[in-house]
Amino acid sequence: MVGGTKKQFHYKRDRFFMTMSMLDQMLFKLPCGHDVVLGRLEKRSLWTCEDCEEKADLAAEPYKAALERDLDTASQIDLQAKGRGETVTRAG
Ligand SMILES: [Zn+2]
Repeated sequence: MVGGTKKQFHYKRDRFFMTMSMLDQMLFKLPCGHDVVLGRLEKRSLWTCEDCEEKADLAAEPYKAALERDLDTASQIDLQAKGRGETVTRAG
């Protein structure tokens, strides 16, 4: 644990008891420039932007690699939270 006062640490501990999955917290930058919650792109190869309706080909580089990397990062962070005994929840 790096930085932060003791008070903040306690706050975090309480919050983290029920941790929202990073998949629901991280945003992915679409080719059109809009953001979408990472978890919604999981296992998808095509996404239609809800803001501008531009189609994003997630199976094409560099988006494929970027999405895989971000999904991996999110799952690693979730695993670390679970390792600390936290309950990781997913939004519906
Ligand atoms: Zn867009």
